[in-house]
Amino acid sequence: MVESYRVLLFYKYVTIEEPEIFTKHHLKFCKDLGIKGRILISGEGINGTLSGTIEQTDAYMTYMNEDERFNDIMWKIDEADGHAFKKMFVRYRPEIVTLQLGEDDLNPNETTGEYLSPREFREALLDEDTVVIDARNDYEFDLGHFRGAVRPDIRSFRELPDWIRENKEEFMDKRVVTYCTGGIRCEKFSGWLVKEGFKDVAQLHGGIATYGKDPEVQGELWDGKMYVFDERIAVDINRKEHVIVGKDWFDETPCERYVNCANPDCNRQMLCSEENEYKYLRSCSHECRLVETNRYVIEHKLSEDQVNERLATIAQESHQSVSI
Ligand SMILES: [Zn+2]
Repeated sequence: MVESYRVLLFYKYVTIEEPEIFTKHHLKFCKDLGIKGRILISGEGINGTLSGTIEQTDAYMTYMNEDERFNDIMWKIDEADGHAFKKMFVRYRPEIVTLQLGEDDLNPNETTGEYLSPREFREALLDEDTVVIDARNDYEFDLGHFRGAVRPDIRSFRELPDWIRENKEEFMDKRVVTYCTGGIRCEKFSGWLVKEGFKDVAQLHGGIATYGKDPEVQGELWDGKMYVFDERIAVDINRKEHVIVGKDWFDETPCERYVNCANPDCNRQMLCSEENEYKYLRSCSHECRLVETNRYVIEHKLSEDQVNERLATIAQESHQSVSI
């Protein structure tokens, strides 16, 4: 019989005394239990995602719920066929999400946006006077997002505060609603918006993961797939319809398949079909195709002639498209 697995996603902003010591104990507990995943711990709380059998994940949730600091964690639970991680990491970090607010840093238990249920969030999506801002990285947005959401012109979440300051006039007088994968990034980001003087700020409670599981909204108005930080890479959210919004890096055809650029120094996440992976050596640019350390060339043991042959095909085609 095939064993059933689960993937858990969770966080809690709560003061953890001596976080480095707690980190050590927690790592030992997780390893003894046999779960795998990635957990970050700081003095401000815990942020984790992990996989294990039903028994293991149950034992983990029970253990956490017995600790009064963590007994009200909102767990996001996915069924899975196996582990979604290869190893177990529990690490101490100065912050459990990297927003690097510096002196603007805040405690979401004191300052944060209003929490919206999935149903209230769906209403916000349909409301013309509300601006819905995606609080994730660009490659996450490109695979899937809420219909009509604003895609900040940034590569990474930590650039968000600067981007907001530059575009403040557009949002200042409107209701601003934010969302992210499991809700943790919005706790701080929406709190920062409040601190920054925005009058009406709200966030999707429990994030996209909770929205997709809600029996009433069923992920409605979500397009594409949700990017996840484990081996699954992409999961479904909208249970009513599936609209593909991802576009192939090379030819812009509909695509939901993520690969990393084969140049280890680039490692760019790009949507790419199997065909184009072959054709372009899984490399985002000409420069990345040429590096000596190119992982695609190494994995496929391509000779110099074979590489040149593919490069010639690319050059020929791009020449043709220019002449058209
Ligand atoms: Zn590249």
